[in-house]
Order: sequence, then structure tokens, then C-alpha cells
Amino acid sequence: MGQAAYSAAIRRIAAVQHDINRPKSRSDANSRPELITPTAPIAVASHGGRAKCLQRLVRMDLPVPRTVALSFDTVHGIASGQMPDMTALLEPFGPQPLLCVRPSSEDPDWGGPGAVLNVGMNDALFVDLCDRIGQDAATAIYIRFVQGYSINVARLDPDMFDGLILEGREGLHQVLSAYEEETEEAFPQDPAVQLAGVLRSMSRAWEGTTARLLRQAKGAPADAGLGLIVQEMAYGLGKGECGSGVIQLVSSSTGRPKITGRYLSQSQGRDALRKDGGSIYLARDPRGPSLEDLAPEAFAELIDYTRQMRIRLREEMQTEFTIENGQVHVLDGVRIRRTPRAAVRIAVALANDGVIPPAEAILRVEPRAVTEMLHRQVDPEARTEVITRGIAASPGAAAGKIVFSSAAAQTAASRDESCILIRRETTPEDIRGMHASVAVLTERGGITSHAAVIARGIGLPCVVGASDLRVNLKRKTVTMADGRVLKEGDEITVDGTNGSVILGSAPLHEAALDEAFQQLMAWADQFRDIGVRANADTPADAEIARRFDAQGIGLCRTEHMFFDPGRLTVMREMIFAAQADDRKAALEQLLPMQRADFVELFRIMQGKPVCIRLLDPPLHEFLPTDRDGIRSLAEALDRPLSDVTRRIEEMAEHNPMLGLRGVRLGITMPEIYDMQARAIFEAVIEASRDGAQVVPEIMIPLVSAKREVELVKTRVEAMAALVRSASGQSFDFRLGVMVETPRAALRAGEIAPHTAFLSFGTNDLTQMTYGLSRDDAGRFMKTYVQQGVYPEDPFHILDSDGVGELLQIGANRGREARKDLVLSICGEHGGNPESIAFCRQAGFDYVSCSPYRVPVARLAAAQLAVKEAIRP
Ligand code: PEP
Ligand code: MG
Repeated sequence: MGQAAYSAAIRRIAAVQHDINRPKSRSDANSRPELITPTAPIAVASHGGRAKCLQRLVRMDLPVPRTVALSFDTVHGIASGQMPDMTALLEPFGPQPLLCVRPSSEDPDWGGPGAVLNVGMNDALFVDLCDRIGQDAATAIYIRFVQGYSINVARLDPDMFDGLILEGREGLHQVLSAYEEETEEAFPQDPAVQLAGVLRSMSRAWEGTTARLLRQAKGAPADAGLGLIVQEMAYGLGKGECGSGVIQLVSSSTGRPKITGRYLSQSQGRDALRKDGGSIYLARDPRGPSLEDLAPEAFAELIDYTRQMRIRLREEMQTEFTIENGQVHVLDGVRIRRTPRAAVRIAVALANDGVIPPAEAILRVEPRAVTEMLHRQVDPEARTEVITRGIAASPGAAAGKIVFSSAAAQTAASRDESCILIRRETTPEDIRGMHASVAVLTERGGITSHAAVIARGIGLPCVVGASDLRVNLKRKTVTMADGRVLKEGDEITVDGTNGSVILGSAPLHEAALDEAFQQLMAWADQFRDIGVRANADTPADAEIARRFDAQGIGLCRTEHMFFDPGRLTVMREMIFAAQADDRKAALEQLLPMQRADFVELFRIMQGKPVCIRLLDPPLHEFLPTDRDGIRSLAEALDRPLSDVTRRIEEMAEHNPMLGLRGVRLGITMPEIYDMQARAIFEAVIEASRDGAQVVPEIMIPLVSAKREVELVKTRVEAMAALVRSASGQSFDFRLGVMVETPRAALRAGEIAPHTAFLSFGTNDLTQMTYGLSRDDAGRFMKTYVQQGVYPEDPFHILDSDGVGELLQIGANRGREARKDLVLSICGEHGGNPESIAFCRQAGFDYVSCSPYRVPVARLAAAQLAVKEAIRP
């Protein structure tokens, strides 16, 4: 998009936003009931969204029944006993009104009291209606109104109608008598009295504590106002085609064009209902009668009105309507409900049609919702039987045959069969089985359990903690809460997005990486002004990162490359080496493996930057902890068991996360980093030979002192020189520092001159700033958050006050010392919209997050840029 087009787009959005966000000025809001006309002073901030929408429909000249809007002030007054002038209020509706009253809150999602229909129904109108719409219909209306009024306005006990017939003249007589008996007065006949009672009860319902708490939970401010609209009823009853319904032009689940909604035809009676007793079809359908058949002109009008609404209201709308003797009345227009994938498609279609600018399309999609689209989903419209629910541990859905062991999963995979691994809980031995399965389900465990963490890492749908299942591994069965038993080979569907488990193979929507998604992301990239990279440790991660258009790898944790069984033994040999020479010999064996890893990563990333972190974890993490493991290690190393046990004990640390790890390994056992640097440089030469020129980034973890950087830098540079001269090839690289200790942030000024970039590892930085163990905080975090000690879990949401201050200090001091210093974040926080806002504000160059969060980060970053352009 050119700069001029961009600026124009931003100006248009700013104008719309200005209108929407106009400050509430209750004082200038008209506190008289206001007939909705094209010019009446009605605003969202004073009369609510529904009133404003109806005014827009009136301006469009749609056939909206006569409507009066009551402002927030008026409704607030009614709740405290100040009734408006009822004669004036009723005046526009003539001498014999029949009305409905609906809520109109500022944001429709905040809810409100239910609508009350048929206000004004009394004996005189009943006689009149019998003539106009027939006695049965008139009686039904009257009975329903008396019932509703008794319960909602007169606050009578709903049981009072138990045992009454509630049909026909006799039924009407009975409900009116029941009312009279309970209240000792006749049912009010004056429409003004009825309407006053309805307005009072709806106003008070809004001011009640429960309603207030409910809407506050949905984001409403404590003093959110309620408007009410009083609208002439369009009965949808008469001698010609009559009925009522809703219609929309796109599917709420996919966002694709599809006429959906419902229509209840009154005049066609039961014959016109579908076999399942539901409403008849809207558009022509071979399966049964439709509105299009019954009233083609009315149907065409409705389509036209809904299209017009889309353009004028700049939103995909649902039209609520009635048809009276073939004539259409539009009662309301409502923004259609939508799944995340539908939200994307709708926003993109609106922008493609020129209804909204692309910048606004970007703002209309909730970034976190995008995560759902990156995985397969159960078709929300499918009929499914949910057999249990657990914790939604890793998003996406998959269907397959049940297996109960890793071995069975691998066998199934070798036959190309989709299988779902069910375990009580998983352990490291299950990883191969998990890789062979399409989804995982466990009886036990929480969001950070082994199954959950691994499944998220490999993008496998996973539900954990399905505690009402009973898994019997011996019998290979799982018993459901209702006693039914599933056995190996039975099919289920695991929905890791919402935590449900479905019997059988549910219909799935593919991941929605379709043109609409791609288009939205392309627009996002045009607006975004902070880079987004991925944390990727393996070729599979890197493939995903590239698929989601990450601008490079921001963190490759090399330790993950050594856990492969073939390498683990060599790694352990290296760890057990007593002398530097022995260590070197073991490292010689690891070198080609490590080089091959990097070549693959560089090839996949096609010249995009790849930031490789030198070895970080304490070495004992590579050693076995159980007896069997130690014995087999002794065998593999050909050493006595006692030697191996002693060495493992020697390496144990009281506080390993603060012990011999990160750069401390690099200083005390420099051969390890030498090998890694050599593998990186040799891989650069190999990958650049037949592909794009690679400039690797090498990152030193857990730095706390400038001298650490100097020492490592000297050796890495020496290794580069060695490889250059041995190969006769030239290459560049960038060396950087991971800021994970508070000291590194504070001393960034003296570290920066030795480094091309600083990458903030906010997982460790949070751990060290709070003095809070990453691995143990889960035990008390819930209590801490519940009691308000921490507003959120700081490992999930960046603590912008404390850890954030360190980030800011590190960034400022680093940049002061070195203007071209590249700044980034690579902790788990990197993909959170809140952290991205912080990093952008602090002048960071990019964020790096797990591959599946890359699209979320791209969209969130674009939204920040667009919002800033609107309100600089
Ligand atoms: C960090 O500490 O933020 C980080 C990215 O490294 P790791 O999670 O591997 O410790
Ligand atoms: Mg770390």
C-alpha cells in the first residue's frame, strides 16, 4: 500500500473511531423519549447500540416499525422512580398501541434484560385483533402477554399457571382470573400502566447486582448505562404470508457466502415446518418449502436490505424481520456472531469490497483468536456426542483409533493409520508414541504436564486431565462416566482447542490458512513496524516458522539437538570426560551431527537470519536419574556402575538453575562452545554453497559480566578465522548476548560495545528478578494471583513494572553505548500482544516466539501500529 493510500485509510478509520468513541456526554443526551427519525439526537454513548443501529436503518429508508428510544439517563431515572411522561411516550403509537420493549446497551455483548413483547394487549385490542388476525392468534398473544407480565412485571410466582390450559378462550379466561386472584386487582387495561410497569422492571433488572457483575465480567464499566427502545409490534400475523425470522448472508462458522437464519411461517401452519419441527428454509431448497417459494418478493427484499446494511453499517449483519401479508418489516439489525475463521473472512471480504479499509480489517480480528485457525477444528455445526471434557492443552482437533501404548501407536503409524494415544499421563518414554499419534488424551495432568508441554511443542492436539475417564491399560479399555466402555481400535475425536473428546470421527475443518488468512497477514505486514521471528530448535519447527512467514529464527536452543538417543550417549561420554582432551574427542564425534543440524536449518530458512544459542542447560540434565538408566549408561561407557554413580553425584548442584550452566559452561569447558562455533561456521559454508548467503547469529546465554563476553568472543572469532583459513571461504557472523540475569540488564552499557545484539530471555529474567523458580512457581502461583499479590502469572504475562523496567534499562544503556545495537525478546512472552506493545514502545527491533504464535504476533504488532496512527 502506498503512503498516500495508507494515510487516507488511517484518516477514514480515525473518523469512524471518533464517532464511536465520542465521550459520553450524558448531560447533552436528550433525556426525553426520542422518536427515532433520521435526524433525532441519538448516539451510542447516550442511547445504546441498538437505538443507534435502528436510526441508521431508518436513515437507509428501511421499513422499520415506529420506534422510540429512551436514553441511559431516562432509564436510570425510571429505575429510581422518575417515570417519563407516558402520554407523550405513547403518542406516536396511536390510540391502540401494541408494542415491544428491548434493551439497548452501549455494547451489545454486555447483554441486558430480555425483550418484552405485546405490551398494550387488552380486551379492546383483543376484539380488534380477532377480526384482523383471527381469534386463535389473538388469544395466543393475549395469554402470552398476561403470563409474561405476571412473572416479569408483577413478580408473581410462575407456578401460578401450573395446571391451567393456556389455550383458547377458556385458557385466556383462566390466566386473567389467576392474575386477579393473586393481585386482587384486574389485569391492567391501560397501555400506559402496562408500559410503565415493563419499563420499571427492565430498568431495575439492569441496576441489580447480579446483572452488574455479569456485564462487568464481559468488560463493561461499573456505571454502564442501559437504553431502552419501545417499538410498534409488527405481528407477523394475518391472512396472507406472515411470519418472523432472521436472515444473514454468510455462514457464522466459516464466513463464506451462505444464506442462513430461520423463518417461522405462521400462515402456512405446521405443514410448512420441516420434518424436525424447525423453521422452514429461507432460500429455495429441494428438501422442503422455503420463504423464497412462499414470498419471493419479500425474500428478495430481505436479501437486498441485508446487503445494504452491510455497506452502510460497514459490517456483516443479521436482519431480524417479520412478514405481514407479504410485506417486510425490519425490526433490528445485529452484527452476526462469528467464529475466529469467519471473523477473518468477513473482515477481509469487507476490505476487498472497499467497504472498510485494510487497516480496519486488521483491527477487527482478535489476535489470540488467530491461533485457532492455525489448526484443524471440529466443524461447529456438526452434531457430535461429547463423551468427556478435560483441559484444552494443545489446540487443534484430530480423529483416530484409540491406542494405549507408544508401541501400538508406532505400529498403527507404520500402517498409515491415524491413532490417538490414551495414557493416564505421559512420560519421556511416550514421546515416540506421541510423534506417531494424531492426538493425545490423558486422564491426569494439567496445562504444564509432560503431555501438554510436548504436544504443544510438536503441534499435536491434546486434552489432559480428563478425570472422569477410567483408563485400564491392561485390558486396553477406557470407561466413560456413564459406564460405556471404549476399547482399542474404537474411534474418537480429540478437540484440544476446547478440551472436549467426541465419540467417533467428527467432521473437521482444515486449518484455515486460506486466501483470506494470507491476505489479512499480508496487510498486517504492511502496517507492522516491529519484526517477528520464531523460536525454532528443529527442522520441523523451522518449516512451520517459514510457513507462517517468520522473518527468521530468533532463538535456536541447541541442547534439544543432543537428546536424540544416538547423540545422547556421545554427549554423556563428553560429560564424563575427566580431561579436556577426552572431552575434545567426544566433541569431535558430535561435530558432524551438529553441523548437519545447522545446514538443514539454514537451508530451510533460505538466507533469513538464524540465531543460534550456545549450549545452556546444566550438564546433569543429560544424565539419567533412575537405576536402570544409570546401569545402561555404565554399560554404554564401559565403566563400573560405582564410577558412573559417583560422577553423577559429583555433578549434582543445590541450585542448578543458578549453577554451572549457560556461559559458565563456555568459560569452564571452552571446547564445547568451540565445537558449536565450528559446526556453525562449517554449516554456513556448506549451506551458502548452493543457497542464499547465510549470516549466522551466535548468542551467548546467561551472561552476567562483560568479561564473559570478551572471553567467549575471542574464542569464537579465533574459530571463525580457523575455519576461514582451512576452507579458503569467507563468511560473516554476528555475536550477541542473551540478557537473562538482572546484572546483564543493568550492565548493558559495558556489554553492548562487545556485542551486535541483545536478546532478552524473559523466562530466566523473570525467574531471577522475582527470585521465583520457573519450575516450582506453579505450586503457589494460583494463590498468589487469587490474593492479588501478582496481577497475573509473570511467566505468562510480562511484568512490565519490574522485569519491564530491567528491559527498559538494558535497552537504554545498551543503545547509548552502541547506536546500531539490535534489541529483541525471545522468552515465552515474545508472542503476547501485551509484551509486543511493551517491546515496540521500548524501541525493540523484533520479538521471537514459538512458531505457532508467529501469526498472532504479526497481527498484534500491526494492530499496535494502526492504533498508534489513529491516536498518536
Ligand atoms: C529465557 O530464559 O527467556 C529463554 C528464552 O531461554 P530458556 O527458556 O531456554 O531458558
Ligand atoms: Mg533462559
